[in-house]
Amino acid sequence: MRIDAQIVVIGGGISGLSLISELTRRRSTGHRIILVEAESTLAHHTSSRSAQHLSPAYGPPPVRELTERTVAQLAKGLEDLEEPVIWPCPTVVVGSKAQLAAESTFYSTRISRDAVIELCPELSPMHPEALVGGLFEDDAVRLDASSLLEWHRRIATEAGVQILTDAPVTAATYDDDAWEITAGSNELRSPLVVNAAGAWADEVSQLFGAEPLGLQPLRRTAALVSLEQPLAADHPVVVTADGGWYYRADPVGALISSGEAEPQDPCDSQPHPGQMQALVEEINAVTSLRITEIVRSWTGQRTAAPDGVPVCGFDPELAGFLWLAGQSGYGFQTSTALARAAADLLLEDLIGTWCSVETAQALSPTRFHQR
Ligand SMILES: Cc1cc2nc3c(=O)[nH]c(=O)nc-3n(C[C@H](O)[C@H](O)[C@H](O)COP(=O)(O)OP(=O)(O)OC[C@H]3O[C@@H](n4cnc5c(N)ncnc54)[C@H](O)[C@@H]3O)c2cc1C
Repeated sequence: MRIDAQIVVIGGGISGLSLISELTRRRSTGHRIILVEAESTLAHHTSSRSAQHLSPAYGPPPVRELTERTVAQLAKGLEDLEEPVIWPCPTVVVGSKAQLAAESTFYSTRISRDAVIELCPELSPMHPEALVGGLFEDDAVRLDASSLLEWHRRIATEAGVQILTDAPVTAATYDDDAWEITAGSNELRSPLVVNAAGAWADEVSQLFGAEPLGLQPLRRTAALVSLEQPLAADHPVVVTADGGWYYRADPVGALISSGEAEPQDPCDSQPHPGQMQALVEEINAVTSLRITEIVRSWTGQRTAAPDGVPVCGFDPELAGFLWLAGQSGYGFQTSTALARAAADLLLEDLIGTWCSVETAQALSPTRFHQR
């Protein structure tokens, strides 16, 4: 199929889907916006493998600003839906004195060991030196990620955005003020292209002749587990300050994650044999969570820029090529604000006045070209 477009978005994860829904809201139509996804289903990779938690205290300053804005925008935008898509879910970071001191800058409330145990009685077996107290974040929220992804898809397609699956971008040339793009069996022509290809963003950029930014996929594994005693639905997310593991309540029992950040080439990443069983034994040894069974485990790739800040901006050396990548472990919690920033750039050629100048500058890919 040959299609003339105004904007082609590459990648059907949370980044690409939130962008196409933001673009249709701003243009009042999705006409001549195309999203291409390599897989046969949307959100097959990292966006279906997250912990679904939005934490305003988590991440470097630009990420925290984008997260605050995303949480506020989602709370407003999703209020008409029948089922809640986000709901309050505090975080408690626990650890030794030194670990908490290192983490304390961004958390407003320090709580005692007794207060931690009152909130999370299953932590009472932890050694007093390993759990001296906690950092409490009460404005964090839980997210139903698949409902959010579907919400964006529906808004965009109802407004006329065309989504092409089984459409991997494999070649691109620039000719007469527009990109000619091969995506599966489709030939697309568009003056504007968005690279929202997650772990593959550097590879995709090279098809267009861009200099890769050094984006690094980092594997992380998680599992749904059943428990002897269920956790209350509003149980805080518990995170160890050294990043060793975390867990949160889930209708199945709990979601646990090993918190690793292991570099890997872009791929359909899978758990290492025995990895989650070892984590279950570790958590069972130091808490009374009493995990009984691993129901399902998975691995996803959190793809980070060299400075850990997402990238949103036009490539300084390529016409009409916008990066929307490097969201690392913050892809959902920054999604709406990043989509808004990307839409500002695509439609108005600047990031609007709604975010700080520092954050707008921090997102730009030009920061890697200035070194
Ligand atoms: C275990 C784990 C827990 C996490 N927990 C959280 C959390 O609690 N909160 C949070 O905010 N974030 C979390 N994250 C991070 C979050 O999931 C990611 O930041 C986010 O999903 C990235 O979305 P994306 O759209 O950029 O990438 P992806 O979802 O990977 O989408 C990129 C898409 O591009 C497609 N693509 C690639 N190459 C091509 C091509 N050549 N042509 C066409 N399409 C292509 C891929 O098939 C893919 O579908 C977690 C991640 C993991 C692994």
